Amino acid sequence: MISAQLRDAAMIVDLKALKHNIKQQQAALPAGSRILAVVKADAYGHGAVPVAHAAKEAGVDGFCVAMLDEGLELRNAGIDQLMLVLGLTPVHYAPVAALNDISLTVGSVNWLKEYAELAKNESLPPLKVHLALDTGMGRIGFRDVAELKQALALVNQPAFVFEGLFTHFATADAADDTYFKQQLGRWHEFLAAVDQKPPYVHMANSAVGMWHRETIAANTVRMGISMYGCNPSGHELPDSLDLQPVASIVAKTTFVKYLQAGESISYGATYTAQNDEWVATLPIGYADGYLRRMQGFKVLVADKECDILGRICMDQMMIRLPESMPIGTEVVLMGSSKGKTLSATDLADHAHTINYEILTSITPRLMRRYK
Ligand code: PLP
Repeated sequence: MISAQLRDAAMIVDLKALKHNIKQQQAALPAGSRILAVVKADAYGHGAVPVAHAAKEAGVDGFCVAMLDEGLELRNAGIDQLMLVLGLTPVHYAPVAALNDISLTVGSVNWLKEYAELAKNESLPPLKVHLALDTGMGRIGFRDVAELKQALALVNQPAFVFEGLFTHFATADAADDTYFKQQLGRWHEFLAAVDQKPPYVHMANSAVGMWHRETIAANTVRMGISMYGCNPSGHELPDSLDLQPVASIVAKTTFVKYLQAGESISYGATYTAQNDEWVATLPIGYADGYLRRMQGFKVLVADKECDILGRICMDQMMIRLPESMPIGTEVVLMGSSKGKTLSATDLADHAHTINYEILTSITPRLMRRYK
């Protein structure tokens, strides 16, 4: 897939803001705590390799990815710190992890048995594993203490290095903490059954790092959305860290016309001008990840909010200008302009989704420009 360099549209990624956000989280944690930067899904759309280098400079202890290929991309780019695959990896791919010093998440006893059997016949370095505990997320992991104890016995074999133990919370970003507390209780029950704790004992995502810091017990935060400057709860809970948004989306107008009242715009002719007005076309559309559901939203031109007119096309979209403006006028689709801001959360609210999905929907075709 190409990243279009020869059009005026880009996602601007502010790596200084990323570092600032990491420092904010570091400063808010007890001494000795660690941060793993969550850079899965191409660093939530920001570009995994540049983000990982910046996060490394800011002092994170390692990285979390979703799948083995994402870990390899970073290893190949020279990132040599702890690299944990958060999803499950089929046993037959696991030797690739061992050979590249990538740590794998394990959620079943059978997986450990099968890997130990496979590793017997090959000369592999020991595989670093993190045992996932399902305390209520209902996704992956050991579900009871008896099962965990079997796993603990198995990870002591030479095929493995027992590096971590973790869980993931389903509602840490919600104002109602009832379910969070239940999960926390389960987490402590599990921990009580583990005599020899591995070096990484981690349960905190961004939301725990922001609103339940006292529960982390000076270990590790897996910092995802907050590192990118977004509030994990959307608008539900107030920011508890001074976060700066990392991504913005900008484009320059490619066509400007004076539309007469009664004329319509875009597919389906869903918009018809009530008055004569200036209309500009932007070279960006839903194939860049600016969702078709953003119809009816707005963009910023200098300090003015301007309506998006009609349907968003695959590669272009139209907006109403406040007045005649030249081709090449800069438009902010996400980010700040002259004191006004359209955040990823604002876009998400309009599209009935979450800021995570807005960011990860931006496709590779939209050039990333780093500053
Ligand atoms: N840990 C796990 C297991 C995850 O799946 C995720 C993201 O989905 C994270 C941490 C990071 O979450 P957040 O972006 O909310 O910090």
